[in-house]
Amino acid sequence: MQRIAAALQCLQMSMPAIDLTLDVPLPIACAFFGIVGGIIGSFLNVVIHRVPREQSIVFPNSACPKCQTAIKPYDNIPVVSYLILRGRCRNCGVHISSRYPAVEALTAILFAAVTWHDGLSFALAFDLAFVAAMLALIFIDAEHMILPNVITYPGIPFALLTRLLVPYLVGPAHFDDLPQLLGAFPSLPVWAVSLIGAVIGALVGGGSLWLMGFLWEKLRGVEAMGLGDVKMMFMVGAFLGWRLTILTILLGAFTGSIAGILVMFRRGSRNMQMMLPFGIFLGIGSIVSLLFGSRIITWYASMFR
Ligand SMILES: [Zn+2]
Repeated sequence: MQRIAAALQCLQMSMPAIDLTLDVPLPIACAFFGIVGGIIGSFLNVVIHRVPREQSIVFPNSACPKCQTAIKPYDNIPVVSYLILRGRCRNCGVHISSRYPAVEALTAILFAAVTWHDGLSFALAFDLAFVAAMLALIFIDAEHMILPNVITYPGIPFALLTRLLVPYLVGPAHFDDLPQLLGAFPSLPVWAVSLIGAVIGALVGGGSLWLMGFLWEKLRGVEAMGLGDVKMMFMVGAFLGWRLTILTILLGAFTGSIAGILVMFRRGSRNMQMMLPFGIFLGIGSIVSLLFGSRIITWYASMFR
């Protein structure tokens, strides 16, 4: 650890002007990463379809679900190809799910939004990877009601690595919880305080969800949720810090309740036992928190002054 810290300090000294002050206007950067988002969204479609089925995400190439014809590169342009082909396979004419262009468009919009939020900084790469992972989890949970370990497990060391590197590359102010924590631990190096923040966030996120599930099981004698949500929130908590993690859970519970009420009305069901995949709403909450969380918290706190 000492050596990593020394290396990081070296890195920081050797690259003083570390923020990428390229002369690229922000709207152009947003448009560029929006296009990158469309391509990543296309890859996420493969992940969303194949990971729950335990298939390889690199091989074979995408094919039509009905006639198995491999999709040509010129028919694989995000969103555009779907519109040109009017949602049908070029070979057999079978209808292709509108989820494919929806995921591509959503990823494009969110990548542009995160670029707007971060600017062209090193943190952008980490935040884009986080959002891509959340999108994969949201759509897999919606279809299969699982949050695969192959995404949540690597997500936890990824979050810790981000907490270790980004304060040196971009500055401590990038993390919502870090300026406050640095005040609480003035004698510790930034990397250590950042990791402490990650552990607190992970315990707040994963710990509180685990506790809720545990209590629910004790009270009702039924399993409330899988441990997938707990693992997901360990990752989210470490990445976002405790303040944005609490906001993520509140936003998740709020949007989840609204969706639950809507579903109950539509089905005319009074069955409160009905399962809603909570990972969807935690995922939405985490992305909203990343983009707007600090502002939402500041605004909320200002109402009590
Ligand atoms: Zn086909």
